Amino acid sequence: MIPVAKPYLPSREKLDSYIDGIYERAWLTNNGQLVQELTRRLEEYLEVENLLLVANGTLALQIAYRALGISGTSYEAEAITTPFTFVATASSLKWEGVEPVFADIDETTWCLDASLIEQAITSRTKAIVPVHVFGNACDIEAIDLIAQRYDLKVVYDSSHAFGVKYQGKSILSYGDAATLSFHATKLFHTGEGGAIIFKRKEDLERAKKMINFGITGPESIEELGINAKMSELHAAIGLSVLDEIDKNIFARNQVAEFYRQQLSNHYQHQVWNGDATQNNAYIPLVLDTEERTVKLVEYFQDMNITVRRYFYPSLSTIQIEHKKNKKTMISDSIASRIVCLPIYSDLSESTLHEIVKHLLEFENKE
Ligand SMILES: *Cc1c(COP(=O)(O)O)cnc(C)c1O
Repeated sequence: MIPVAKPYLPSREKLDSYIDGIYERAWLTNNGQLVQELTRRLEEYLEVENLLLVANGTLALQIAYRALGISGTSYEAEAITTPFTFVATASSLKWEGVEPVFADIDETTWCLDASLIEQAITSRTKAIVPVHVFGNACDIEAIDLIAQRYDLKVVYDSSHAFGVKYQGKSILSYGDAATLSFHATKLFHTGEGGAIIFKRKEDLERAKKMINFGITGPESIEELGINAKMSELHAAIGLSVLDEIDKNIFARNQVAEFYRQQLSNHYQHQVWNGDATQNNAYIPLVLDTEERTVKLVEYFQDMNITVRRYFYPSLSTIQIEHKKNKKTMISDSIASRIVCLPIYSDLSESTLHEIVKHLLEFENKE
């Protein structure tokens, strides 16, 4: 079966050498040497400051909400977010006692439509949680302006945007915080893992305490905390993957380039923000109808190729998520017609050609 994504497996030799170090030091977690090294190297690679490694991308969001005072207060808070995303963007808010209020997405970029944010603001609104969906930059200037005007925090769920530059700067440097997921299927991964990039050093320092039970010394506890630490073993995987990231990205870019060349006049594609670079984390495309979309998935299934309906369903249509929703017709419509195509660094040329051939054939099929 051809999967839609495949975890990048770094060289065993490299991974083993990091694990040898773990054995020598007999230090498995609690801000060990490899976690510190990965923090430094990611800050350097991504050109950011105030990066905090955590156990996964969902906790990255939760800790960001806590450190910024969006969650953890006694009164009911709301955050404006997009329904066109992975479930964790909204469920992490709900889990933290913050009501996700969905505003619709832009029809072309598929990111939160900034012109709909203001009308969703109430006296309870504390934050905006936009997603750079599939790595495409949100309308950052407009969002920041609204946040300033209404004194709201901005947390960008940047789980898809590893390595993306916006106007020549890391996209992770915008907002009060930006979060990353390092889940195995993501462009850069640590098996399980995640990170938060804070704008302000004091928020980073607060979050550092929070991810370790609020403990600040052998006999002192200063914050309400939780366990959200990354272990040395996960950091070892991350360092090994990071050592080979250029090779991985180069191979993925070749795959993405071929898809783009062959499919530019076929199907509907995400319109990329002209100020942002592309990281080719995903290859999404949209069909005319939901019926055709379901057929396409089955058509490929018969050929042992996974084409995934991602993100489907639109979160505004899920019962657990929402209490009071604006209509999000564009998100509901795009989500019902979207698929993501296979992309990973060792996707063979012959498989790639086969996928494209089938896609073009399908377009002319009844
Ligand atoms: C993957 C992902 C997450 C969750 O990350 P985990 O590391 O799996 O917890 C959150 N938001 C988005 C948009 C994601 O794609």
